[in-house]
Amino acid sequence: MGEREDKLFIEVAKVYERIEATTGRLEMIDYLKKLFLETPPDVLDKVVYLTLGSIAPAYEGIELGVGEKLLLKALSMATGISQDKLEKKYPEIGDIGKLAEWSVENKVAQSFFQEDLTVNNVFDTLLKVSQATGDKAQDMKIRLLAGLFSDSKPLEARYIARIVTERLRLGVRDMTILDALAEAFLKGRAFRDQLERKYNIFPDIGKIAKIVAAKGFEGLDEIKITLGIPVRPMLAQRLRSAQEIMDKIGPRIFAEFKYDGERMQIHVWKDGSVKIFSRRLENITEPYPDVREFAARAAKGHEVIFDGETVAVNPDTGEILPFQELMHRRRKYGVEEAMASYPTVTYVFDILYLDGREMLDDPLEDRRTHLLKLLREEGGENEKVRVVEYEVIEGNVNELERFFEYAVERGTEGLVVKDPRSQYQAGTRGWSWIKLKRSYISKMIEPVDLVVVGAFWGKGKRAGTYGALLMAAYSPEEDAFKTVCKMGSGFTDEELASLPELLGPYKIEHRHPSVVSNLEADVWFVPQKVAQVLGDEITLSPTHTCGWGRIKEDAGLAIRFPRFMGWREDKGPQDATSEEEIVEMYKEQLKTVSDVTEVESSTSGDKS
Ligand code: ATP
Repeated sequence: MGEREDKLFIEVAKVYERIEATTGRLEMIDYLKKLFLETPPDVLDKVVYLTLGSIAPAYEGIELGVGEKLLLKALSMATGISQDKLEKKYPEIGDIGKLAEWSVENKVAQSFFQEDLTVNNVFDTLLKVSQATGDKAQDMKIRLLAGLFSDSKPLEARYIARIVTERLRLGVRDMTILDALAEAFLKGRAFRDQLERKYNIFPDIGKIAKIVAAKGFEGLDEIKITLGIPVRPMLAQRLRSAQEIMDKIGPRIFAEFKYDGERMQIHVWKDGSVKIFSRRLENITEPYPDVREFAARAAKGHEVIFDGETVAVNPDTGEILPFQELMHRRRKYGVEEAMASYPTVTYVFDILYLDGREMLDDPLEDRRTHLLKLLREEGGENEKVRVVEYEVIEGNVNELERFFEYAVERGTEGLVVKDPRSQYQAGTRGWSWIKLKRSYISKMIEPVDLVVVGAFWGKGKRAGTYGALLMAAYSPEEDAFKTVCKMGSGFTDEELASLPELLGPYKIEHRHPSVVSNLEADVWFVPQKVAQVLGDEITLSPTHTCGWGRIKEDAGLAIRFPRFMGWREDKGPQDATSEEEIVEMYKEQLKTVSDVTEVESSTSGDKS
C-alpha cells in the first residue's frame, strides 16, 4: 500500500449503514459531511463514486454489472460455503448484500491472513473487475471478488456485494453530495449553487469533491470546461404560439430549425480526436465514426466543443428522416453497415469552448459569430457538419410563423427560438430557449394517389436517375394539379433505376400549364402517372400549393415523409386524390388528435 493516503473501508460501510437507516435528508447530508471531512482528500473521489454506487462518473459508462451467479461463486470461494447452500439461502434472505453479509459471518473457510480493507483496496479491485475482458474474464472476476470477500468484515461484504451488482441504492444523488460538500468544505449549503455551477460544466463529482476538499473556494476556480468531460446541456422551455414566444423574448430572436434527431455534444481535440456525448451525457462516440470524421474536419485543428443535433438523412435525396431511423445507428456491432444505410448530418447550433476559452457566458449572438467564422469563413462546414438553419427575426410574428411552417415542411419538428443576448445555461431549462413544435401529430392512415408532375435529379447512389419526384393532387374545379410533396422514399432499387425510362414519355421542357407549383423542378412532366403514396401526416406548408389559403393565408398543405407504395396503373390523373380531400384530411387530423401541445405542456418535466 506504500505511502498512499487511505481510509479504512469499514468506516465507510458504517456510514452507509446509518444512511440506510435514516429517512431525513438533512441527517443524510450530515452523515455524508462527516464522512467527507474524515476522508483524506486523496481518496475522497473514490469514496464519492462508491457512495453513488459506482467507480467513476456516470458519463464514463463503466459497468460493474456483476451477475448474481458470478457473485455467488465468488462468495462460495471466499467463505467455503457451497454454492448450493448459498443459492438456497438467497431467496430466504432476499437481498444480495445481506446474503454476502451472512455468508461472511458464517464462513467455514479459514483465512490465515486477513488484512483490513481500505478504500483503495476496494476501489482498485472493483476497477479491475470492470476492466477484465477476454476468455478468462469470468474466472478473473470471481477470483478478484473472492479476494475482497475473504478480507471483508460482514458489514463490508454487504456493501461490496451491492455495489458490484449495481444495487447500492442508498438514495444518495449527485445533488445530495453537492450539499454535503458545501457543508464540509465551503461555508454551508447556501454555497451549493457555486458547486452546482461547476458541476454543470464539469459533472465529475468525484474530482470536484477532491478539489474543494483540498482547496475550498479557491479550488473552484480550477474547475473548468475540459475536453473529454461533457458539459450538461442547456434545455428549452416550451410555449404554444409564435406570439407568446415573441412576447416573452422578442422582439429580436434567432429562430432555429428543431431537428428531430439525437442531441450531440462533440468534443474535438487539436489532433482531430473526437468524443461525442448524448443528452444524458453517455459517451456515444463509437457508433458514429462519420460524425467523428466530419466533426474533426469541421474543427480544422482547433480545440472545440460543438453542441448540435444529428439527424439521419436519405442518402440519395438528402431529406431528413424521422428520429427512429437514426436509432438504427445506436449499436455496438455492424457499425459500418448501419453507417452506409443511415448516413447522418449534424446541425451545430452552439459552440461552448474554443481553443482554451470557455464561451458559455458570451451572448448567443457572439457564440454564433464564432461558430460561423469557424465553420463558414474558415471553411470547416462540410456536407455532414453544418450550421443550424436559422433566421434572425425582428418583432414580426408572421415571419416567425412562416419560418415555422417552412421548418416543419422540411422534415423538422418545428423551431427552437432563442434570445440572441442569452448565455448558455448549462444543465438548465431556461427561458432563453423556447421550442415551438408542430401542434398536431397524427398518422395518415390512408394512402393517397398523387400525380407525378416533376422530378429532381439524384446524387450519390442515385446519380443518373431521380432522387425525388414532385407529386400533386388534383383540383377538378380548376382542372389543376397542385403540388403536395417531394417523394424520395419507398422505392426498390429496380423501381428507382427504371424511373427515367418509365417517365420519359411524359417529359416536357417546362412546367405543364395545368401544374401549379412554387418549386422549380429539374425535369417537368405532363401530369399522367399516378402513384400511391403513404405519408406520416399533413402539415401547413409555405411551399406547396395544394390547399393554398384554405386553412391559412399564404400557406398550402404538404404531406410529410411521403413513401412510394406502387403505381396506380388503373388510375388516370383526374382520378387522383383531390385537393379538397387533402384539405379535409388535414381538418380530420385536427379533430381526431386533440391539441398535443396541450398534453405536452402539462407533462413537460425533464425526461432524463
Ligand atoms: P428536452 O431535451 O427539452 O428535455 P426532449 O428531449 O423531449 O426535451 P424536445 O422537447 O423535443 O426534446 O426539444 C429539445 C431538444 O431538441 C434538444 O435537447 C435538442 O436535442 C433538440 N434540438 C433540435 N434542434 C435544436 C436547436 N436548433 N436548438 C436546440 N435544441 C435543438
